[in-house]
Amino acid sequence: MKMLPLILSSEALLSFPCPGCGEQEVDAVPNKLCASCRERLKLIQPPICAGCGGVIDGVLELCVKCMKEEVRPWGKALSLFDLSGYGQELVQGFKYNNRPELARALGGMVSEVFKQELDGAGWLVPVPLHWSRYCSRGYNQSRLVCRIIAEQTGISVKNLLVRRRRTRQQAKLSREQRKLNLTNAFSMKRGVNCKNRTILLFDDVITTGATLTAAANVLLDAGASNVYIITLGRR
Ligand SMILES: [Zn+2]
Ligand SMILES: [Zn+2]
Repeated sequence: MKMLPLILSSEALLSFPCPGCGEQEVDAVPNKLCASCRERLKLIQPPICAGCGGVIDGVLELCVKCMKEEVRPWGKALSLFDLSGYGQELVQGFKYNNRPELARALGGMVSEVFKQELDGAGWLVPVPLHWSRYCSRGYNQSRLVCRIIAEQTGISVKNLLVRRRRTRQQAKLSREQRKLNLTNAFSMKRGVNCKNRTILLFDDVITTGATLTAAANVLLDAGASNVYIITLGRR
């Protein structure tokens, strides 16, 4: 009788494909980006801008882009990577090409990189999608990532906000149009309360910050003591 090679089978069990490049990785954790994908992502290194979580280009507290925007309602911003090159590709795939499995890889990275900041930080609140967008995509990408972060850090996820209006894509609008586009876009969900709570508001990306500003102001108006923002990609 022939014996089966035990070593080979245990190695096969520990091998998962990287969700970024699809290459086989020998790792005990499924849905984790491989070392070369992580390298391509260009994670943001401190010192960081309090307005967007990006790299500070000078000696000031804000980056050049944020200095052109209105004063942010949040105290601090955290972003994982620059929304260029591979980061852009991953976020696009996650949002528009029906790849919800990337939530685990991306959420896992948020938990790992911002471990200290997430420790006892308050409530994690995802920016909601309008129901019509939710129906066409089938999932809210921000809510999926928040669920993974909660699983790994113990932080509570609270769906406090509702999106009342479907808004146009912010990137193509002027500053004034952007503001108008987001007027009354968000409101508090009926029956919820965030008085004196610290909120970590999560969105997949920050571009001008107008969407996050509208959502943060609703939470602050409802009595939240502090709002911080956290995003995957910063443009
Ligand atoms: Zn990879
Ligand atoms: Zn900035």
